[in-house]
Amino acid sequence: MRAREIERYKKRLTAKRIELLDRVRDAQDTEVTVGEEKAADLGDRALSSTSRTVLHQLSASERQVLRRIEKALERIGEGTYGRCLNCSQPIQKGRLDAVPWARYCIECQEKLDRGEIEDIDP
Ligand SMILES: [Zn+2]
Repeated sequence: MRAREIERYKKRLTAKRIELLDRVRDAQDTEVTVGEEKAADLGDRALSSTSRTVLHQLSASERQVLRRIEKALERIGEGTYGRCLNCSQPIQKGRLDAVPWARYCIECQEKLDRGEIEDIDP
């Protein structure tokens, strides 16, 4: 893969990572507010703020995406980005365009979905 292409994926990965991390930070800010509200008023207001905090937190799949983005950025640093973790062949460009943190080529992803190969990092 050309350096310019890698740079483009790196930008997208970094932007998505910042977006997810910003939401974690927002959730933490909300928790501080909840704490203050709780101290002032232990009634319904504190309860509704708590539910709001839960909504702001990252879902399990978003946390997984965040981890995969960080792994992908590591692979860029190691010079192995864009290669399938199973067969080491280049991952299809269209696939990386859709999911820059993709770890497997389409063929291996299908094998994985059918349970024919083991996910090295579920
Ligand atoms: Zn593969």
